[in-house]
Amino acid sequence: MTSRSTNNKILPAGEIAGGAAGRKVFVRTYGCQMNVYDSGRMAEVLAPQGYSQTETLEDADLVILNTCHIREKAAEKVYSELGRLRKIKDERARAGKPTLIGVAGCVAQAEGEEISRRAPVVDLVFGPQSYHRLPDLLVRAAGGAKVVETEFDIDEKFEHLAEQSKRMPLARAASAFLTVQEGCDKFCTFCVVPYTRGAEVSRPLGQILQEAEGLAAAGVREITLLGQNVNAWHGEGPDGRPWGLGRLLRRLAEVDGLDRLRYTTSHPRDMDDELIAAHRDMPELMPYLHLPVQSGSDRILAAMNRKHGRDDYFRLVDRIREASPGLALSGDFIVGFPGETDADFADTMDLVRRVGYASCFSFKYSQRPGTPGAAMADQLPEAVKSTRLAELQTLLSDQQRAFNASRLGITCDVLLEKKGRQAGQLTGKSPWLQAVQVDAPDALIGTIQPVEIVDIGANSLFGRLAGGQYGSISPVDGSRQEAAF
Ligand code: SF4
Repeated sequence: MTSRSTNNKILPAGEIAGGAAGRKVFVRTYGCQMNVYDSGRMAEVLAPQGYSQTETLEDADLVILNTCHIREKAAEKVYSELGRLRKIKDERARAGKPTLIGVAGCVAQAEGEEISRRAPVVDLVFGPQSYHRLPDLLVRAAGGAKVVETEFDIDEKFEHLAEQSKRMPLARAASAFLTVQEGCDKFCTFCVVPYTRGAEVSRPLGQILQEAEGLAAAGVREITLLGQNVNAWHGEGPDGRPWGLGRLLRRLAEVDGLDRLRYTTSHPRDMDDELIAAHRDMPELMPYLHLPVQSGSDRILAAMNRKHGRDDYFRLVDRIREASPGLALSGDFIVGFPGETDADFADTMDLVRRVGYASCFSFKYSQRPGTPGAAMADQLPEAVKSTRLAELQTLLSDQQRAFNASRLGITCDVLLEKKGRQAGQLTGKSPWLQAVQVDAPDALIGTIQPVEIVDIGANSLFGRLAGGQYGSISPVDGSRQEAAF
């Protein structure tokens, strides 16, 4: 295995980062599934360079913080983590063990050189489109350079992903993510993604199929297609005609061994007829959709530049539910956007009541430097935002509980993914993306089994193998309940 250094000299793997064979990398991931995916790919880029993963910071020769800029005070949280890392780096240096520290992801993209300036402990800063260049960056950092690499070259990253998926299976589990699209052209006024991930770029069909086939061959049963605006994906079919996400999903369903498909995150404007029809026709497409609306007020939706109104959203949800009546709808909400009045917030509460969600993420608005929202007048006091968020979250929690309770007593297919919390228990996923704890032997990991839902916990459903030989453990008192076969 070789790698190209910055001056194009070909280096054997062991020479990378000063001889990395036997070294350890600790990757901490913040934020979205796209970052989880990128962290996995970083570990795979580093493996041929002699790095294995560790869960213990103190053992790590290389620490990477893969950051997210969506949440409140993201940059400040990274700087405070870097303060802790400085102490570990100093202690390891006293023991004669050098440590390289990298900051990756969207905070790296947004802050760039500012990170190295504010936190000299950092050796390398690289944006979401640069992780495939890690071996080169490590050579430079190990040589004492402060590396900042935040250029956009998404096509190069996609090409690297294609090469990587040819070389090694990307999966070690029954379900996996697959990036099909990155970046966004929507420019919602609260969001940093168009600035940190760049313009919307779709990955070519051939690359996606190749990776999906590799994942299926490695034992993956369920794939979640990822993209910041995933339903904007577009490509060219083998017939030379334009394909959208619905057509892509139909093609992926033909891949041998793939039983389940999901995708996230979608914009309401990009839910086209073909994609809605896919929900109607495809048993492989799970009956779950994350479709953020952010606000129920037309005035605030316009200020957010969401490019649709509340009635458009109602009509869209009606069409989707007509196509897939049992579908679980999920969403994102931001409360306290600049200028949001009590009446605007009442419209959001009304929208939530009318739509009814199975699960949602909700946040207080916070200013993101460089976004139009940050410069808007009428920023709301924190106390107002907190009160509104609490009210909204009470309603959303009630809806989630009601949705989960509606599964009690039914039998559904569960993908059993890993060992559960208790001995003899496995954790799986329902079609509606709920965690399900099931009494089952390890041999069933990676299989899809019919499971009867027998109890509902705060964060999980509890089930037993339908017609199987195993009982269930009560979430209430841990007692074993034998199934009636
Ligand atoms: S559609 Fe999503 S990713 Fe794109 S700008 Fe809006 S919130 Fe950000």
